[in-house]
Parts: sequence; C-alpha cells; structure tokens
Amino acid sequence: MSKVRVRFAPSPTGSTHIGTARTALYNWLYARKTGGSFVLRIEDTDKERNTEAALQELLDGLRWLGLDWDEGPEVGGDYGPYFQSQRGDIYQDYLKKLKDAGRTYEKDGAIFFKLEGERFTEYDDYHKAEVEKVESQPVVIEDLIRGKVTRREERDFVIVRSNGDPSFHFVNVVDDIAMGITHVLRGEDHLPNTSKHVELFNAFGITPPIYAHMPMILKDPKLGKGKMSKRDKGALIEEYKQRDFLPEAVTNFVALLGWSTKDNQEVLSIDELTERFEIKDIQKGGARFDEKKMSHINFEHMKRLPIEKYSEAATSALRKESLVDDSTDQEYLQAALRLCQEKIDSFENLPSFAAFFFSDAFAINEKAQKKVMKGEAVLRIQEITPPLKSLEEWTAEKIEAIFLSLAEEKELKPFAWFPVVRFALSGTNSGPDFLPMLEVLGKERVVSRLNTFIETHSA
Ligand code: GLU
Repeated sequence: MSKVRVRFAPSPTGSTHIGTARTALYNWLYARKTGGSFVLRIEDTDKERNTEAALQELLDGLRWLGLDWDEGPEVGGDYGPYFQSQRGDIYQDYLKKLKDAGRTYEKDGAIFFKLEGERFTEYDDYHKAEVEKVESQPVVIEDLIRGKVTRREERDFVIVRSNGDPSFHFVNVVDDIAMGITHVLRGEDHLPNTSKHVELFNAFGITPPIYAHMPMILKDPKLGKGKMSKRDKGALIEEYKQRDFLPEAVTNFVALLGWSTKDNQEVLSIDELTERFEIKDIQKGGARFDEKKMSHINFEHMKRLPIEKYSEAATSALRKESLVDDSTDQEYLQAALRLCQEKIDSFENLPSFAAFFFSDAFAINEKAQKKVMKGEAVLRIQEITPPLKSLEEWTAEKIEAIFLSLAEEKELKPFAWFPVVRFALSGTNSGPDFLPMLEVLGKERVVSRLNTFIETHSA
C-alpha cells in the first residue's frame, strides 16, 4: 500500500471546537501510527467568514495539543500552497479537465457538474418546482467506521458559483487529488457530501480515498439534548487553555469522544493513544460529552506529572493570583505543591486550595467555620499550641506524637484537635493530608497562626 497521507482541512471561521480538535487528532494519530503524513490544509475559500484571528487560534490550539503537522501553513511542503485561497490556478487546471471531458455546463452564470445517466424531470417538493433529475449509478462508499454506505446523487451540482468562486465540493476533491490524500477521516455531517465527492473523483478518473465518517459529539446529558454546539460549556479548546487544563489531558479526553480501547483504559498518554488507536474501533453512534470524565482525566494526568512539570504549571496558576513570585522559597513551594498534587483535580482550582500555604490572609470558609467552631474549639487550640511550640524536631511523625500524647492526657481522640487546628491554619476543613500539611507549613507559621487564632477568639 502507498504511504498514508491524511489531511485536516478546517475552515477557520471562529473559535476551535472540540469536534474540530477531534478530527485533527484522529487524523494525526492515524498518520503517526502508520508512519504517514499529516497535512494541514486551510479551506479558506469563504473570504467573508475566514479570519486571520480564527486561523491563529486554530494553529495555536493544534500546537498546544501537541498535534504537529508535516505539511501546511508555516511549515510548507511539496504539495503547497496549503491555503485554498492561494490555489486558484490549480482549480482552473482541474476545471478545464472536467470541461474537456464534457462534464460541465453553465447555467445562470454558475458552472455545474454533470452527472452521468438518463435524465428526466420530476416535481420536487423541496424546490416546489419541476426539476431535472438524473438516473445515476449509486455510489458505494466502503466506510471504515460505517461499513458499506450506498448513496445516489440525482441532481447536477454547482462547482463554480456565479461570482467565480469554486464550490466546497470541487476544491475539496481537487485538493485531495492534488495532495495525494489516501484517507479522509471527517465528521458524519459530511456523509451527504461524500457521494458528490466520489462522483467528482470518478469523473477525474481517480480512485477516491478511503473514507471514515466519525460520529457527532452530543451534549452532556446534564446540559441538554442533541449535538454539542459552540456555546456549550467545554466546547472550545480555548476554554481549556484558559482554565489551565493540561493539554495531554484534553488530547486524551478528546480521543475518547467516539473511540475507546478494548479494555476501556481511559487514562492514556499521547504515545499510548498512538499505539492503540484504530479507525475501526471508532463508534458509529453519537459520542457523549461528559464534563465529569474530562475533570477526572485531567486529575489523573496531573497526578502523573513529574513534580518539576507539575510545579511549572502550578506556579503559573499561582502567579496569576499573585500568591507566589520570584522571591517565593523554591523548596517550600515544591513541598507544598507535592501535597496539592495528590488532591486537586485542576490547576484552575489550585489557587484557592493552596492559598493558605503562601499567605496568612487566607479566606475563611463559613460552612467549615460553623462546623468546626463549636464547643471547646478555642480551648483545643490553647492546649495544643504550647507543646507544638516546644517541639524541636518538626516532622509529621513527631507532630503526630504530640497530638497523641495530648489526647491521652485529656482522654480524648486526636480527632478532637485535627479539624479545628486545620481550620485555624487554613480557614477550612478540607485540604491536603493533615500531618504532612503541618510539617510543610513549618513550625513558625503554624505556631504564629495558632497564636493569632487564640488572640482573635479569646476576646
Ligand atoms: N472544510 C471542511 C470542514 O471544515 C473540510 C471537510 C473535509 O474534511 O473534507 O468541514
């Protein structure tokens, strides 16, 4: 078989949707898996709607996701130009081929592609008029996902509009021919176009590429029914970037929108995805977006990050909230982050979770306050502060021993102290593991916060 050449052919008219990212990803995975080429072709024939800003967002998004292209904008290649707006001459050459073969005619200023077959007229409900139809041969598409799909085109269609612009069908097919594309993986919404495209391939005397039509992405059932739209939460790649999701988690999650491994392994690195991806394992039915799964996958990738990488991303999230800066002690920062890494499922939530490590002015969680600040809460803090203050070796183990011996002395459980101490130190009743948290905060911070707490509450 000839070398695989796949293309991702977006029309950048707005923000990049996860469905678009999925098309790019599946093509990329297939190219990387087979040692083929991943071509990026910009379908920008609609001059009104294609914008430079949308193109930049798209390219940035692909790079952020780690989807590098072998040919296309900014990298070049042997089959360029890679913008349809720059390929006018090529379209003229191909148009001439169809003209010479007697497969075109002009009507109302537009150029039509002429189907082969017996012609007849019929009343058409949709157009509310008598229209010319063609008894053409059915087109059989051997779709890698859907199996055999048979469709019949029965009306000639426009290949050059009356304003001189070639149509989507025409340029899409010409480019797939001229760029030597072997496989077309695209959304199911294109299935009605594919029979037209196969007609065009046949007219050029070229074997069509192998097709695979991917299922639509459906809304999270919690958000409604039907196809996911650009306005739905979680629909745009830019949103994940803004919210500090890990790109490898987004790639992983997007890959699972319509594809799964046989053993349902959900957390996969890009290398694992490449190794395990198979077009035939893509499902036919709609793929449900699942926000919870997205968070879960992000958390799993966050947990797996080496601490240096984790700390890089975390630091940038903390910097945004001015919780850390160049003067922050690196060792302390790393130690604090190590504790956060086990607990927090998004960098977006990290600043509020970790603020108390870096500032004494942490927020007070009122619910936690109500729960914790009852009975002898202040007394508990008064009891624990002196022995902690005298503790010389500040380790989780030694700190625990202090709590245990005090508990024994007072005939209480250590749990009588834990929540209120946690609250005094961090303003809430949940967070990192308790004893390691005290160890990392350090004796000075702990004792000073406990003292402040006593002062504030013993008025
Ligand atoms: N520009 C088309 C789109 O954005 C490309 C379709 C195709 O992949 O053939 O949907």
